[in-house]
Amino acid sequence: MIINIENLRRKEIDKIDLNFCEEIDTISYCDEKYKLASPIEVEGKITRNGKGLYINANIKMSIVDRCSRCLDEVEVPLDFNIQGFIVQDKNYSEDEYEEFDAFVVEDLENVDLLNIISQNLDFNMPHKVLCDEDCKGLCHGCGANLNREDCRCSEKINDEDNIDPRFAKLKELLKNE
Ligand SMILES: [Zn+2]
Ligand SMILES: [Zn+2]
Repeated sequence: MIINIENLRRKEIDKIDLNFCEEIDTISYCDEKYKLASPIEVEGKITRNGKGLYINANIKMSIVDRCSRCLDEVEVPLDFNIQGFIVQDKNYSEDEYEEFDAFVVEDLENVDLLNIISQNLDFNMPHKVLCDEDCKGLCHGCGANLNREDCRCSEKINDEDNIDPRFAKLKELLKNE
């Protein structure tokens, strides 16, 4: 998702309209790669503004995360706005942009919008993802997904290997009789 902004920088144009939908497989966030369940919809613009180049855009997409209780995959719809200056690595001084949001990019000619979007996921990801408010989660004993299967913890007690040692002795005695 590379946007060439060279002619905006050269002041040949006043703004770049962003209005597109792009299919992307994954997006990185916090050292993890998330699959996307929908294309990324971008609507907004990049303008020149006193201090530099400024992006203001609305982002819509669905990512695939895991339910924090049962670990099943869940589609998480995200809809958020990004606003801030686009700044190049070497020109970036935190003081100058202190009161503004700034997105640091490597290449100011070809801006990687996907990178800016992932820099914004931080504030826009839900803290806790659930497949359902009433998700029953996994049994801590047997690991059964309690939404669709029964707990197998009681079966284990009947299992020879897990039999209580005292009963094992009793069983041994009965066998010898
Ligand atoms: Zn769940
Ligand atoms: Zn269980």
